[in-house]
Amino acid sequence: MRLNCQKCGACCVSPNGIFYGKPKVHIDITEEDAKRMSRYFRRRYVVRGTEVGVPAPIGNLLYLTTKETLDGYACAAFRGRVNGLCRCVIYDRRPDVCRYFTKGRNNMMCTSCREDFDLKV
Ligand code: SF4
Ligand code: SF4
Repeated sequence: MRLNCQKCGACCVSPNGIFYGKPKVHIDITEEDAKRMSRYFRRRYVVRGTEVGVPAPIGNLLYLTTKETLDGYACAAFRGRVNGLCRCVIYDRRPDVCRYFTKGRNNMMCTSCREDFDLKV
């Protein structure tokens, strides 16, 4: 099956919203990732884990925050719906972890994220 990320979005949203036991953060990012983002985006959506209750030592990492949506807790940069039209508003400046995330069956994470939403893999 040919996958189209702009009609999927499953890896940008957590249906139960739990990441490191906390619903307020989506993915951990690096200082370099954060520097690449606009100052506006960074101030609004990047937090240090300890600010939102992620326990040390991983609490010392930077995270993108989430927002509650109809599909679950979505990354702050996500727009649209899972399994519908969607996009990443910081696509050109997205974190490395998202850059290296390949779509398809060769990436078990992609498969697993899609399964979370009962999407074909
Ligand atoms: S889960 Fe896979 S197909 Fe869906 S957006 Fe992420 S990489 Fe693309
Ligand atoms: S930064 Fe963009 S690609 Fe990465 S999880 Fe958030 S919305 Fe998805």
